[in-house]
Amino acid sequence: MPISPENKARYPKDWALRSRFVRFYRAGNKCEWCGAENHQPHPVTGSRVVLTCAHIFDHRPEAASLLNLAALCQRCHNQHDAPMRRQNRRDRRNRRATNQLKLWRLIHDNKS
Ligand SMILES: [Zn+2]
Repeated sequence: MPISPENKARYPKDWALRSRFVRFYRAGNKCEWCGAENHQPHPVTGSRVVLTCAHIFDHRPEAASLLNLAALCQRCHNQHDAPMRRQNRRDRRNRRATNQLKLWRLIHDNKS
C-alpha cells in the first residue's frame, strides 16, 4: 500500500533502508508468505509481482521494527490489510453520519 502523504512523517527516517533490507536481503526478493518472486508473474493471479514492505502485527507507521515488517506480494499484502481497511471504511462512514447528524441538528435548532 503506498504511503499516504499525511502519514509520511510518521515513518522512521530510515524507512526506505528498512524496506529494502526486508524485501531484498532478508526475503531474497520473494514474498515471505507465499514465495512469489518479485517482478515475475504471480503463480495465482498472473499479475506482475511488486514486493512491498508490510506492517504485520502493529499497523502504525511508527511500528517499524524489523520483527513487525514482512516483504509481501500485492495479493498477500491486500489480504492482510483487508480487515483493517474494512474497519477504516466503517469508521469513516460513522464519522460522516455523525457529522451529518450534527449539521442537521445545527440547522434544525437554528430554524426553531
Ligand atoms: Zn505473497
